Amino acid sequence: MGIIRNLASHFPAVCKSLIRNHHKIVMSRPVQARRTAGVDKNLWVEFTQLAADYKPVNLGQGFPDFSPPQFVQDAFCKAVCGGPSMHQYTRAFGHPPLVKSLAKFFSRIVGCEIDPLEDVLVTVGAYQALFCAFQALVDEGDEVIIIEPFFDCYQPMVKMTGGKAVYVPLRPKVKGSSIPSSGDWVLSAEELASKITARTKAIVINTPNNPIGKVYKTEELQMIADLCIKHNMLCISDEVYEWLTYDGAKHVKIASLPGMWERTITVGSAGKTFSATGWKVGWAIGSGNIMKHLKTIHQNTVYHCATAAQEAVAQGFEREYELFGTPESYFQQLPAMLHLKRKKLASCLEGVGLQPVMPEGGYFMIADISSVKVDFNDESTKDEPPDFRFVKWLTKEKGLGTIPVSAFYSPEHSKEFDKYIRFCFVKEDSTLDAAEDILRKWSKGE
Ligand code: PMP
Ligand code: GLN
Repeated sequence: MGIIRNLASHFPAVCKSLIRNHHKIVMSRPVQARRTAGVDKNLWVEFTQLAADYKPVNLGQGFPDFSPPQFVQDAFCKAVCGGPSMHQYTRAFGHPPLVKSLAKFFSRIVGCEIDPLEDVLVTVGAYQALFCAFQALVDEGDEVIIIEPFFDCYQPMVKMTGGKAVYVPLRPKVKGSSIPSSGDWVLSAEELASKITARTKAIVINTPNNPIGKVYKTEELQMIADLCIKHNMLCISDEVYEWLTYDGAKHVKIASLPGMWERTITVGSAGKTFSATGWKVGWAIGSGNIMKHLKTIHQNTVYHCATAAQEAVAQGFEREYELFGTPESYFQQLPAMLHLKRKKLASCLEGVGLQPVMPEGGYFMIADISSVKVDFNDESTKDEPPDFRFVKWLTKEKGLGTIPVSAFYSPEHSKEFDKYIRFCFVKEDSTLDAAEDILRKWSKGE
């Protein structure tokens, strides 16, 4: 090694590789812990890189390309200029003003008294809330039911606990000629019940759903709740898009159904709530005797989250508490704005023969690409599913970024759903116009 290091200063490139190889030769056991095996591929890493390389009009990754509302931007600036404490550690499980605001706000919605210090955990985005929930509650050999399509991280997070993910797909009902809606994608109570075993510890639901936009109806949630209660299962309910529902669809919290508060962990995100995905403030809310285990994971991993961002989110919730249900509330204004963008994207997709599934909620719209014939010349994608090939072709050849929907399925069901791609419509109208332009030109063969 000494010789190699001396040489390194003269021949840096050659020696770097020698040093690397030397390490490989002397390692007597695998570097990699087993829990990282099989979870190394990541959809967002791959498609964010593709977007960085080809710079398409980006309707892929789900983030707004417009600014958060002025009141939270102002609150963030005020926090950053608010003196020394805003730049230092705060309470591990959540900045006191934020846990108080969240508890006050959600007590009104869930219909029970939420204790800010016991029942709320502030996390680095909804991602970390989910991570804490799986790590704290799922043991090796436990089974976790995941409803498909699902936000992709549930699968590796369950795998990393040593638990087993068991999948139940939402299935589209076959309908007549009207426009398909995410409400047509339904869960079979029989199929779900048939997947429950003595080892089933929890079920994960996501409403409004990413990627199809389904907003579960009270009856559907009640069916899930009945099974949770009957079989003594926990429920992890990912509700990051809770304020974004359209055409009268109503978001219902499963935690608000009788007997469910005490067995549900509800996950939320300030990123989605205030259109500030880069702030990475999220939370988990549930009964203190469950939350204490999530806190154990949190205190021993990240310990606490950025103070100024938490302060700004607290201010945002205080404002929304006062304005709740009024036209000035951002929780009314954002869905009203997105409703128009959703209509705009749907008519664009229909216009070029890509049949959309109208989402009842959320950031995304999926469309059926099976009627489109494309001659892919890209050898590098020849072993990939059709939706992955299509998305890569659309990005590279036409300059439009989207996301393949089969990525939101388990390997056993992904083939049935690889004819859909996902578009994000939480974008400036100019971005949606640019996407429309690309699709129109393509459909005309230009
Ligand atoms: N759950 C769902 C359904 C999501 O779409 C996302 C992505 N925003 C997350 C969780 C993670 O959210 P965050 O960015 O707050 O970590
Ligand atoms: N939730 C976002 C989406 O579905 C982005 C997730 C991510 O970038 N990791 O597009």
